[in-house]
Amino acid sequence: MELSALSIHRAHELLKNKDISAVELTRAVLSRIAAVDDGIRAYLTVDADGALSAAGHADELIRQGRITPLTGIPVALKDLICTRGIGTTCGSRILENFVPPYDAHVVQRLRAENAVIMGKLNMDEFAMGSSTEHSAFIKTRNPWDQTRVPGGSSGGSAAAVAADMCLGSLGSDTGGSIRQPASHCGVVGMKPTYGRVSRFGLVAFASSLDQIGPFAKNVKDCALLLLAISGHDPADSTSVPRGVPDYSAGLSGDLSGLTVGLPREYFDTPGLSPDVAAAIENAVDTFTSLGAACVEVTLPHTDYAVAAYYVIAPCEASSNLARYDGVKYGFRDNSESDLMQMYNNTRSIGFGAEVQRRIIIGTYALSAGYYDAYYKKASQVRTLIIDDFNTAFETCDLLLSPTAPTPAFKIGETVDDPLAMYLSDVFTLSANLAGIPGISVPCGFSTEGLPIGLQLMGPHFSEEILLKAAYCFEQAAGVCNRKPNLNK
Ligand code: GLN
Repeated sequence: MELSALSIHRAHELLKNKDISAVELTRAVLSRIAAVDDGIRAYLTVDADGALSAAGHADELIRQGRITPLTGIPVALKDLICTRGIGTTCGSRILENFVPPYDAHVVQRLRAENAVIMGKLNMDEFAMGSSTEHSAFIKTRNPWDQTRVPGGSSGGSAAAVAADMCLGSLGSDTGGSIRQPASHCGVVGMKPTYGRVSRFGLVAFASSLDQIGPFAKNVKDCALLLLAISGHDPADSTSVPRGVPDYSAGLSGDLSGLTVGLPREYFDTPGLSPDVAAAIENAVDTFTSLGAACVEVTLPHTDYAVAAYYVIAPCEASSNLARYDGVKYGFRDNSESDLMQMYNNTRSIGFGAEVQRRIIIGTYALSAGYYDAYYKKASQVRTLIIDDFNTAFETCDLLLSPTAPTPAFKIGETVDDPLAMYLSDVFTLSANLAGIPGISVPCGFSTEGLPIGLQLMGPHFSEEILLKAAYCFEQAAGVCNRKPNLNK
């Protein structure tokens, strides 16, 4: 087996037994990137030197018997997670030359475990999008079918894991940007509870919705990465001071005693592909055979989630992105001497069309006279959506649904139709509005051989239950073992 195809757990065993070295493993991943990333285009930056020197250091520690689960493991990061000394573009021209002087909290955590950071992964500009086509630099392709998108906005993070160009990765999820690309690329992706993982050093899109989370080849690896990045950080005032359980510990047994809610609105959605519906139905049978009781529940305000999200997220974005003015840092257009014109040109040239659209929508919805009609109304709807979840969780432990209404769509198919793109987030946005955790785990394939993901959502801080349910399902369904054939 190619070393780059290893799971984190398996690689850890081999490293621990000194059957392989971290340098060998890192070289194998670099060769894999060299072999397939011309086609997939997941990486914006590959830090080969940094990775090899971190791997050398990891080998030294392993020789001294100082190994933790991530020591010497090659991982990669979505390019909006700040990395000291390594460019962090957010997929945007406006930050094309930005090199952060500090590491994000999650990066500090990974470095403390001596994980090997391979580089930075492509994304929709400022994480706005569902296909990674809004990157200012490259279009990432889906490893299962290179005419299709990998999903987004963390498309590079999902594609890199699916194509064995890292053993695990981190992305961010504001409205589905971890779960949806995980579903489209046939890997596991998890959005933790809001406040579980520090956002310090995560470039902000919509601060009340953003959360960093892991992508992995299987649920066990996902649990390991989540454990490594979770926990309180005084540098993020929304990070919750609460203990972190050992997420790997509960991954065994069956699901007897568990009540799984099937939200009616998520199954009645127009546009739900028959292949996805069939895969999810099979998954429900698997949950039942594992001992779970599956019951129908209702989330009556689901219909309003897309509208509420696409007011709240742009409002927060318009405020967060005001800092890119050509004065403080990042790109500046110097063609005019007039200050106002400099602002205008900088932002018109520096931001792509989707980001400009969001800034305009957000600025409009927050402006005097419209605030009550849009932002306030959307915030009220958000409360109703939170209430829906609270009511549902009175009768079930977690919710099961499709992650996305269709498998990965073709490159170019929806990029000029923002509304169609926004509607593809219908199953994932609500979890962000409510701050609850969600995981996407592969559950089958379409008739065209494209991966389909199953989403599980649970109450705040129910990551342990979600991971256990996802793990038991994964073991029973056996879908994770299939790999895309990149040699076609
Ligand atoms: N697709 C959604 C958007 O464009 C979600 C993005 C995300 O989660 N970062 O806003």
